[in-house]
Amino acid sequence: MRIVLIGPPGAGKGTQCQRLVEYLDVPHLSTGEMLRQAVLGETREGQQAASFMERGQLVPDELIVGMVGQRLMRPDCRKGCLLDGFPRTLRQAATLDEFLERQAMSLDGVIELAVPREELVRRMLSRKREDDDPEIFARRIESFERQTAPLLDYYGRQRKLVCIDGLGTADEIFGRVRAAIEKFASRHQGHDEAAQ
Ligand code: ADP
Repeated sequence: MRIVLIGPPGAGKGTQCQRLVEYLDVPHLSTGEMLRQAVLGETREGQQAASFMERGQLVPDELIVGMVGQRLMRPDCRKGCLLDGFPRTLRQAATLDEFLERQAMSLDGVIELAVPREELVRRMLSRKREDDDPEIFARRIESFERQTAPLLDYYGRQRKLVCIDGLGTADEIFGRVRAAIEKFASRHQGHDEAAQ
């Protein structure tokens, strides 16, 4: 299965992604992680990305699209993948759709992990991570609302979106994630049957 998980910073995407890759048995493509590795490895892409990341801004679309494209071409992604942190802009989403279409692939579904802003701020203040400087965190939430939230409409129109409540225990939330996956799987079957 090819799934995208979308959620604002602090929504608990990391925890759910860890469980979901195990459940689906597909590679986990986290663009945040790829970029952090590129920065540490001082690659050309890493050098270009660093200043944007430090400021809590998105890196340029071309840079991230190139990285993800290369990763998706690797053979382990043939059976599917979990996209985490990508796409983040409408342009990234459109480029991803074109890319998958050329490979005769498509997304099976998109899951939105919804958490109200007040709760995100509360969680950030109580966990204190290195990139959790309150000002930068606020900028990341803003960039989510401005640049990434429009994707929810985009995937809604494609009838690929399932929104789940991101409040509750990790187990409760994962139960909702699994229900969303089952819904995507049954739609898949519906299509296959219709095609026969
Ligand atoms: P985490 O893995 O901690 O959730 P993020 O996914 O928020 O980290 O990524 C960290 C930073 O990397 C972002 O603030 C942004 O600067 C950059 N980044 C990650 N994915 C993308 C993307 N798809 N487009 C643009 N920038 C990205």
